[in-house]
Amino acid sequence: MVNRLISRNVDAKNNAVQHFGELFIVILPYLKRPVSAEYISKKIRIKPSRIRAVLNRLFNYNLIDYKRCFDDDTGKYTYVWTLKKEKLKRFLKDVPAPVSNSDDDDSAVYDFVCTGCKQGYTFDAAADYSFRCYKCGAFIDSGA
Ligand SMILES: [Zn+2]
Repeated sequence: MVNRLISRNVDAKNNAVQHFGELFIVILPYLKRPVSAEYISKKIRIKPSRIRAVLNRLFNYNLIDYKRCFDDDTGKYTYVWTLKKEKLKRFLKDVPAPVSNSDDDDSAVYDFVCTGCKQGYTFDAAADYSFRCYKCGAFIDSGA
């Protein structure tokens, strides 16, 4: 499974984050089976639009399919997304991450920090989570 690849292979994980954003790592476990952005949104309490942005990035690389489905619960049409797992695995192994210009690319700049558990965040990541820590739910504040 892709989850395992990412948890074991730092390069594959970096590659994923570079291409799809940090939120992708949070969403990935929910993509084991076909799923809607709204479902993931409810589970991780992040706006569906942010989740859709990640799914669209996957779609641009032809790594995910979607189907329009009628949702009996809401009485509305929704999009159900199916990850192309094998293709994604190959993509993460084969496609190199965009080369960073800075020399200290291992020490990502964590300008923001969780006020609860002290998890570090880049600005983009903090914004992705609406400044709520994905681990403990506390407020993410500027580290300065
Ligand atoms: Zn936290």
